[in-house]
Amino acid sequence: MFRAPRSYTRQDVVELHIPGPAAASTSLASVLIDAGARQALPGEFTARAFLSGRIDLSEAEAVADVVCAADDAKLRSAIAAMGGQVHRFCRQAAGSIADILAGVEASIDLSSEDIVLDTPADLAERLDGLACRLRSIAAEATEIPETTEQPHVVLAGRVNVGKSSLLNAISGTDRAITSALAGTTRDVLSAPVRLDDGSAFILQDAAGFGRAETLLDEATNTAARRAVAAADLVLFVADLTDRAIQKDRQLLDQVRSANRRAPMLLVANKLDLLDKAELQHRLAEVEGLSSMTALGTSAVTGTGLGRLRDVIGERLGLSAGRSGDALGLHDRQRRCLIAAAAGAQRACSLLMEASEVADCAELVAVELRESLGELSAISGEIVTEDILGRIFSRFCVGK
Ligand code: GDP
Repeated sequence: MFRAPRSYTRQDVVELHIPGPAAASTSLASVLIDAGARQALPGEFTARAFLSGRIDLSEAEAVADVVCAADDAKLRSAIAAMGGQVHRFCRQAAGSIADILAGVEASIDLSSEDIVLDTPADLAERLDGLACRLRSIAAEATEIPETTEQPHVVLAGRVNVGKSSLLNAISGTDRAITSALAGTTRDVLSAPVRLDDGSAFILQDAAGFGRAETLLDEATNTAARRAVAAADLVLFVADLTDRAIQKDRQLLDQVRSANRRAPMLLVANKLDLLDKAELQHRLAEVEGLSSMTALGTSAVTGTGLGRLRDVIGERLGLSAGRSGDALGLHDRQRRCLIAAAAGAQRACSLLMEASEVADCAELVAVELRESLGELSAISGEIVTEDILGRIFSRFCVGK
């Protein structure tokens, strides 16, 4: 039993820890519901903690991010935010703006008195520095995605180029059965991949894309097409030993039209089967055909796979999470920071044109209050019901 205010929500809380099978907790829950209790809404506990002022909105959002973190980098940044990193930064910035606002307002109230006031140039310089810092934090921050899904990387290419073998070799599993018999893979197989820095993605084999000769092919083709269309990155695999290069070209065009949004990498596989001179020649041919730089690999010997994993991480922007000090921000929070910087910058421009602070004080004060409002929206001091609803709906029940 946690007595108010010494609980997560600052309200009286009773926690029942039930050992034993899930059926025990289910039947206990139904007894409690019959007695008048109700199921918590998604994020209700954290919403209560926020509404009681125990945590600010950036910390509440971070609770959901911790629960949903798809990899180590996102977990680290969410833990930092939960510990108040975003909250502290915004408080500091808001404090600086409030100081400047006090100086500006003093010039209105005390202009006739005989005291030394800040010059417009001093205030403008401070505001310019602050706006720069807000903008650079917004630019350097790692983006916390609103979805908890890991990015999807899809292998596409003709039959027998080595997609299944690459899926196994990159993910370090035996998820896919590989065979020299064309068309062995009938399903969209997936395997989770974890990179050395802890970031992660789902690798899928879009076997059967563009092939619809039989009914079974058609079903496979539909599944593969869906996987390609939803991909965040496409790996187009070509077989360096295969001379039917025009067929690669046709398939490449189909893959491109199925997903114009995702970037694509060209993987030239089976390089172990060629000697050096032949390899250069074939690589140039494949690159010419696709207008992309090829990453040479061998799914059998493992050559080029380390580099391929690195490039996938870079293309997905996963490596951004590695930089230790960058703040993790949601798009909403980043927009607020940029808007706060813009307000500070407009105030700065007004001050630079004035010879006395008092000449532009009222307009500057409006801009600074707007800037403060944006910072308060990050911490949740000023926030609409609609934004709150959207934030807490991301939570699962019980958090
Ligand atoms: P998929 O149809 O594109 O999925 O191709 P598979 O992965 O099933 O591979 C077809 C055949 O090529 C199998 O016999 C694999 O062992 C072989 N293979 C795949 N990648 C390589 C490679 O890099 N080098 C060599 N020598 N053989 C490979």
